[in-house]
Amino acid sequence: MILFLFLSLFIVAQDNPYNNELTQPLTTNGLTTHFPKNFVQSRARFRSYAGAFKSLNIPAESLSRPVPTSISNDLTIDALFIKGVNPHKLLIISAGIHGPENFAGSALMDLYVQNMLKTKSRPHVDILLIHSLNPYGFKYFRRTNPYNIDLNRNHADKQEFQSTNPSFESVKSIYEPTYPATTGFVSKVGFYFAIMSKYIFKGKKTILNSLSGQYKYEKNIFYGGKEPQLESLIAQKMIESSIENKTAILHIDLHTGFGENGKLHFYGSDEFTSDAQATTLKSIFPEITIDTGKDKDFYPTSGDFVDWTWKNHPQITAIPMVFEFGTSNSQTISGGLSSLWTSILENQGHHYGYASKADEKIVRNRYESLFNPQRSEWQQAVVDQGFKALNNATERFSVL
Ligand SMILES: [Zn+2]
Repeated sequence: MILFLFLSLFIVAQDNPYNNELTQPLTTNGLTTHFPKNFVQSRARFRSYAGAFKSLNIPAESLSRPVPTSISNDLTIDALFIKGVNPHKLLIISAGIHGPENFAGSALMDLYVQNMLKTKSRPHVDILLIHSLNPYGFKYFRRTNPYNIDLNRNHADKQEFQSTNPSFESVKSIYEPTYPATTGFVSKVGFYFAIMSKYIFKGKKTILNSLSGQYKYEKNIFYGGKEPQLESLIAQKMIESSIENKTAILHIDLHTGFGENGKLHFYGSDEFTSDAQATTLKSIFPEITIDTGKDKDFYPTSGDFVDWTWKNHPQITAIPMVFEFGTSNSQTISGGLSSLWTSILENQGHHYGYASKADEKIVRNRYESLFNPQRSEWQQAVVDQGFKALNNATERFSVL
């Protein structure tokens, strides 16, 4: 017991989600200008792409689908379909299924599109860009949709919607304290003490697997819902209407938060049923390490979007890929638990309020640092690494 307390105190001392940097307003210098200020500005910029392609005689169609909620009737999911030379291949780039991660996703998409426009030539393959898979979450800075549903657990099948996650069951009460959120010392030690006990007795994999998703507890974190949400159905339909005559699909979904700070992680599937997928994956991403849910520092997700794409189109060689930009060193124990605590606090504050204004401010800052860091070096790293990786993947996919 005493040992746990010391261990918890030791980890508490490491809890520093800001990396010694204060949260600053959005920077607007250098390449970081691609980072949008908000949902509305980002969407307006995205909507302007179709006209820009058309003025270069490159066929492009835009789509906009409303996602009405009780708080706002101006939320939409927007897509752009650019017709390439080869009609048999489709590259999908999507972003923002977790709302606050769309700042980086939109920045990268903008750089990618601006570069395409600069070359003035038609792309080799058809390209479908989806701007904001979770417009509510982007606008109101939440990972979930208005119903607390994590949309990247919501592209599930019937069986998954009815499933139980045993790892989650063992930690669910730590993940959803039912009183106002507070970041004080006692609350912090309490969280670390509880989670370290689970970590030691149940193992790291239990904690990691608890992040996979759960379909039972509506106010808890990583809740995937009871049925497909409108946002998921719209996104799926956008893909369905773009796959006629396709023999190959590469679907890249953009995320932030998990992994080493400032590093781009490639997160693939470990469930491939065909050799063609494994071979194609290797040809598109030959020199990088692809993490899967089986790896020691990662976790499998159920009901995620890129897996929906390949699982529902077995007649097409479809490759799922998540680009995840690390922010929090979650591969370390202290970084992982610190980001978990941030997610718990934000969810707790949303449902049960905050103990004080100061607590709310601290939690909001932690949440921002976790999914949309304001440090210009981080933003620069996202743009640099993401742009290179997207271009390499596009080129290799085109010549396959
Ligand atoms: Zn994400």
